[in-house]
Amino acid sequence: MEDRLQPAFAEVLRRNPGEVEFHQAVREVFESLGPVLRKNPQYAEAAVLERICEPERQIIFRVPWVDDTGRVRINRGFRVEYNSALGPFKGGLRFHPSVYLGIVKFLGFEQIFKNALTGLPIGGGKGGSDFDPRGRSDGEVMRFCQSFMTELYRHIGEYTDVPAGDIGVGAREIGYLFGQYKRITNRYESGVLTGKGLTWGGSLVRKEATGYGSVLFAQSMLGTVGESLDGRRVSISGSGNVAIYAAEKAQQLGGRVVTFSDSSGYVVDEAGVDLSLLKEIKEVERGRVSDYIARRPGARLVKDGSIWDVPTDVALPCATQNELTEADAKQLVANGVRAVAEGANMPSTPEAVALLREAGVLFGPGKAANAGGVATSALEMQQNASRDSWSFGHTEDRLAEIMVSIHDNCLATADEYDVPGDYVVGANVRGFTQVADAMIA
Ligand code: GLU
Repeated sequence: MEDRLQPAFAEVLRRNPGEVEFHQAVREVFESLGPVLRKNPQYAEAAVLERICEPERQIIFRVPWVDDTGRVRINRGFRVEYNSALGPFKGGLRFHPSVYLGIVKFLGFEQIFKNALTGLPIGGGKGGSDFDPRGRSDGEVMRFCQSFMTELYRHIGEYTDVPAGDIGVGAREIGYLFGQYKRITNRYESGVLTGKGLTWGGSLVRKEATGYGSVLFAQSMLGTVGESLDGRRVSISGSGNVAIYAAEKAQQLGGRVVTFSDSSGYVVDEAGVDLSLLKEIKEVERGRVSDYIARRPGARLVKDGSIWDVPTDVALPCATQNELTEADAKQLVANGVRAVAEGANMPSTPEAVALLREAGVLFGPGKAANAGGVATSALEMQQNASRDSWSFGHTEDRLAEIMVSIHDNCLATADEYDVPGDYVVGANVRGFTQVADAMIA
């Protein structure tokens, strides 16, 4: 990080003690910004760095709910309304036991720049809870979501803040949340949440969008060196929404997806993943990846070690933050990986990113590569605002256009700053300048 950015970074550390993931996300952006600040003295004059690191509003609340045995449980809810320079706060809700303010802030900070990259009018925010949905009944999840919304509703709105899903929050949870919002406010305000069900204001392709978009981004990167996904081995971590639809798009483009995972281990399926089986297990049965092995001859489950040990051409980390380490990156490079596109948010550690970039691997950072999800959320908001509902084909075409334009804009910005092919600098600088210019205006 250049010296001129050190004081602002020191201030971030001082103001946000112990929030290591947030520090990591800020440092990662700051490391790209030295030349931008040199070229644009107006940013320092307007203290944009200091302003952009401080969320506009941070809400922390109690979420009491009653479990199936009648016992009262307490969780903590968060919504960080980070930056509204470009539009209403926009970003998902994560329900996972690891959630605390530092995780929500790292995700919210990333979201500001990701959302700017989409070119659509959405600001950045994020929220969630340390609630663990695993093993909870439908009724428990419903009561939790209703209680969560009983506090959250006063802070959100179509023109204010528009939450969506993230880890642990899918269409079921969005349904419970929307129902409670509607009941409390007496308003059918479709555009207050995205990721809704298809029969009540949701958008086709939203479920697929993050995964599809990441693969389209990888395909664009490969295209710059005259290659494609066709006939390539593809490794995907995770087995949630992002991973499943990354696998689907990779297969449509001729790739052979050989891995996926969850917290119980990773699966290697050399014949290529059977997607309808994986969807049945994950989307219908809410099962584990181990259930896949039992029904798929030839596939094996590996409980220890790293999914990135499996030789591959294209790696798509689609599980969670810091899942791809320096050792993993070394192994991927040794095995001849061509491209890495981040489907999850900040899944590669800083050391892993440095190693991959130095080795000349095409590297698509999350805020660019996984922006297709939130971009399609903005398309859902558009449909809601115009009381319209687009076809799958039209929506997918819009998503594809957006991903190509994010890719091309990152490359053009990298060229402008004399680091051709550097998507990390391209994404950070492009996202930052768009938000900074709007803040100054
Ligand atoms: N949680 C997703 C993300 O990380 C999507 C957010 C949204 O659709 O608002 O970008």
